[in-house]
Amino acid sequence: MIIDLLKISDHGLIIQGSYPNDILELEENEQAKADPLSPVHYDLSATCFDGELILTGEVSAGLLLVCARCMDEFRDVLNLTEYQVEIPIHGEVSVDLTNRIREDILLALPWYPHCAESTVEDRQCAGEDTMFETVEKNPLSTDDAGDDTGTMESGVWKALDGLTDPNH
Ligand SMILES: [Zn+2]
Repeated sequence: MIIDLLKISDHGLIIQGSYPNDILELEENEQAKADPLSPVHYDLSATCFDGELILTGEVSAGLLLVCARCMDEFRDVLNLTEYQVEIPIHGEVSVDLTNRIREDILLALPWYPHCAESTVEDRQCAGEDTMFETVEKNPLSTDDAGDDTGTMESGVWKALDGLTDPNH
């Protein structure tokens, strides 16, 4: 989303819309992917004040997540309500917010997705609490749980690393 700073009047500018393409770049991530049926949507109010572009509002992203308990894939929507971004302006006439929004969504991805907590699917989790019982009864399986967490972590950070690539 490219914001034309010249269009922002003293009263601000409402910026609403969706990204038609997948901006999350989670293709390689096994725990979370963009939901093609529910693209990243933004509803923001933009103002310029004291050398900064200030955006406030809401950003949402449809996701396909893998439940940490039953390992089933499920749909969910991540809602960043009260989203706020401040970007210093140094004489630019436009600002591209896409990378910043992608980064903020990736940082907000759930660490332990649970399908029963989906806001868009009504589900009973088949693996309810079994993972935690296993860990308690068998200390050796703690290592496996740790590995899973590491995979999720590295996947997200790998995606974030892509943000610094000038080709993106
Ligand atoms: Zn589940």
